[in-house]
Amino acid sequence: MQTIADRLTNARQEIEHAIADAHRPAHCVRLLAVSKTKPVSDIKAAYEAGQRQFGENYIQEGVAKIEQLKMLSDIEWHMIGPIQSNKTKLVAEHFDWVQSVDRLKIATRLNEQRPAGMPPLNVCIQLNLEQEATKSGILPAELPGIAEAICALPNLKLRGLMAIPATNVSEAQQCDTLSQLHALYTELQASADGIDTLSVGMSNDMALAIAHGSTMVRIGTAIFGSRN
Ligand SMILES: *Cc1c(COP(=O)(O)O)cnc(C)c1O
Repeated sequence: MQTIADRLTNARQEIEHAIADAHRPAHCVRLLAVSKTKPVSDIKAAYEAGQRQFGENYIQEGVAKIEQLKMLSDIEWHMIGPIQSNKTKLVAEHFDWVQSVDRLKIATRLNEQRPAGMPPLNVCIQLNLEQEATKSGILPAELPGIAEAICALPNLKLRGLMAIPATNVSEAQQCDTLSQLHALYTELQASADGIDTLSVGMSNDMALAIAHGSTMVRIGTAIFGSRN
């Protein structure tokens, strides 16, 4: 049976293959291990295999794990799920990154609630390029205004964009969406400092996302096994 360490090694190899195929520099894509619904023991196993960046979708569950794993102080915790505005305080107090900022109100509250003495909270703006009703995220036309407003918030550090493109469409359509996303990312880089993260690509669209400039892929099942 494959261990979490084996699966992590495979995932890292797949990422490096996709990078090489895309003629991009080695190690230019970070791996976020998505540990939602998985026990703390699985996160520890991945940590022991060298993984440091973990993603959680559910606030209460994520905060409980962060508390339990406090002694592993170099873990970087990413919130990647939808956030209700009455839950921002917990997020601001515990996470290192929030990738799922999908409206300015959430950013404003995270900025106000980030405790003094903690470093600025790293954030990505989540885009909904295909305007799918079931997905959160802002529309491309809203991006410049929201990005500018976030850059003015002292307790947040805008790092880039996140998206969850549809994978049940043709490869041509996927490429089209990924190209649009990359163009928006490049524009954002030109308009703000410190933009270094394009978080896109999951298990079944990882190689395509890396070919289109992704700098961070988010992988759950391929590392921790399927969820109930
Ligand atoms: C669950 C989740 C993932 C990981 O999905 P897998 O199919 O388990 O690899 C990545 N990104 C987001 C936003 C998720 O919610």
